[in-house]
Amino acid sequence: MKKVIIIRYAEMYLKGKNRGFFEQVFSTNIERALKGIRHELHRYSGRYLVEGFDGADADEIVGRLKKVFGIHSMSIALETSNDLKSIFEAAKAVSRSSGTFKVESHRADKRYPLTSMEISREVGGMLLSQFPALTVDVHNPSFYVYVDIRENGTALVFGEFFPGADGMPVGTAGKGVLLISGGIDSPVAGHMLAKRGMSVECLHFHSYPYTNLQAKEKVIELAKILSGYTLGKTLYTVSVTHIQEAIHEKCAPELMVTLLRRFMFRIAEKFALRIKAQCLITGESLGQVASQTIEGMTSSNSVVEKLPVLRPLVGFDKNEIIERAVKIGTYDISIQPYEDCCTVFLPDYPAIRPALKDIVEEEQKLDIPALLDEAFASIEKIEL
Ligand code: ATP
Ligand code: MG
Repeated sequence: MKKVIIIRYAEMYLKGKNRGFFEQVFSTNIERALKGIRHELHRYSGRYLVEGFDGADADEIVGRLKKVFGIHSMSIALETSNDLKSIFEAAKAVSRSSGTFKVESHRADKRYPLTSMEISREVGGMLLSQFPALTVDVHNPSFYVYVDIRENGTALVFGEFFPGADGMPVGTAGKGVLLISGGIDSPVAGHMLAKRGMSVECLHFHSYPYTNLQAKEKVIELAKILSGYTLGKTLYTVSVTHIQEAIHEKCAPELMVTLLRRFMFRIAEKFALRIKAQCLITGESLGQVASQTIEGMTSSNSVVEKLPVLRPLVGFDKNEIIERAVKIGTYDISIQPYEDCCTVFLPDYPAIRPALKDIVEEEQKLDIPALLDEAFASIEKIEL
């Protein structure tokens, strides 16, 4: 009797012709998540099976796989030969000793001498005589024992379903550049699109030395947590210090944030095209702060020439975003105090609805191509 892990997948069956591609990406992602743990991954009748691991690693494997998008649920099962005596030994190990229960059986091997109903009845009967405090309840049992007769002479016996992350395998829906700050929102935005199968590359703007190295450490920490889901390995950072200094020196102070954000989007698009990404992703939510009005979004969108800007949080309330941040494990890091580059040289009264024409006019005072070149020269690649 040895432990195996059954992996059931989520939406992939919807994908008709692409199915082969989806499954290949999916199994690659599972392998990446399990790196460093001895195991084998096999397909079996519309599921995957992790085998050949040390029984003590089972919980760690399930824990890691909980972050892999495309997994609907998992079970830690006992694999035995398919004779009733062995199945019963496994069922005993899976069962509780009291309460109401139901045995559910499934036969992939239709030559098996007993029907599913008969298997359930036999195993249920054996459990009842083993544990006197058990009773059968087929409608509303407090726990189940599942028996799965495979085609290869073995049976899988298990009792629990662990929920997976659902969604689509990362790498099946293109690639995006996430503008990641040290705040609460952007990691959640990245997580949401990774859940739909997008590969997410993280790009962070800093104003070192105005923003400190702790701020950078914080973003690295966030990117690391996010990489558990996105399977990304790098964080890119860009300095916008020189851009803020130029704006501070030459432009109307109330436009600092607006102008800076336009530079961020320009840099992000250029960077995205360079690494063959297909969109920008931000954590903006409508009306949350002055720069996130529809006018603010229009202003930053208008410098992005080729790519769509995806804002998965646009219709979310802050508390909905926080709820997600807590769930994915980024919240505690995000709320640590930190200086974003957007808070450097902040005017007392930022313009809330600046007219695009005024913004463009103000920008004429800057050497945009030179500022962009300098930003690109500052790009740093950090391995997570
Ligand atoms: P967050 O919690 O994600 O920081 P926020 O509520 O603080 O968001 P803003 O600071 O206005 O809002 O930022 C809006 C979005 O712009 C962020 O979600 C992020 O995508 C992007 N952004 C802001 N600052 C940076 C930065 N320093 N580097 C990269 N992207 C940034
Ligand atoms: Mg922020």
